[in-house]
Amino acid sequence: MTMIELVEGDITEQQVDVVVNAANSSLLGGGGVDGAIHRRGGPEILTECRALRAGHYGKGLKTGEAVATTAGRLPARWVVHTVGPVWSDSEDRSALLAACHRNSLHVAADLGAHTVAFPAISTGIYRWPVESAAEIALETVLNTLSAGSCSVELVRFVLFGPAAYDVFREQADALGLSG
Ligand code: ADP
Repeated sequence: MTMIELVEGDITEQQVDVVVNAANSSLLGGGGVDGAIHRRGGPEILTECRALRAGHYGKGLKTGEAVATTAGRLPARWVVHTVGPVWSDSEDRSALLAACHRNSLHVAADLGAHTVAFPAISTGIYRWPVESAAEIALETVLNTLSAGSCSVELVRFVLFGPAAYDVFREQADALGLSG
């Protein structure tokens, strides 16, 4: 049985197995939720990100991909870093935003995680309209979890502020999600 939950809050405070980070392709930190995770999680996360860059991810993490590190001092076990697409008026990049959510869940499942917290990927510095991002995020998580055996039992969307929460709530209601 899998649950999708919406809360308003700060993702760095979530006691979950996996916190998903809306990273950038450098994996070396940035603003928004990325900055908050590295600040609160401490230097251990960045050390592991640097090791990833020195190894398999020499050119960085591609948009839509996901990779895990430790969670440092966060009250979580792992951070799964994923790179959301930048919003475009001229090009439909929805498949990439869906891929972020799907691949993050696959990485979490490979780790054996039961609980996963997502921020509203791409809706900050990357300017994706929250309504559209919420629809893609919720649908993709729902589809991925119902597609097959997966260790993940709880997905919590942690929305930063009441406006984003309300939009996610509306989209969840439209999809018939009650949590
Ligand atoms: P992106 O570059 O993918 O747009 P951002 O970090 O700029 O990523 O923003 C993604 C979302 O995360 C935005 O809705 C922003 O308000 C939100 N956010 C920023 N800090 C936090 C936090 N500490 N916890 C949860 N969400 C956050």
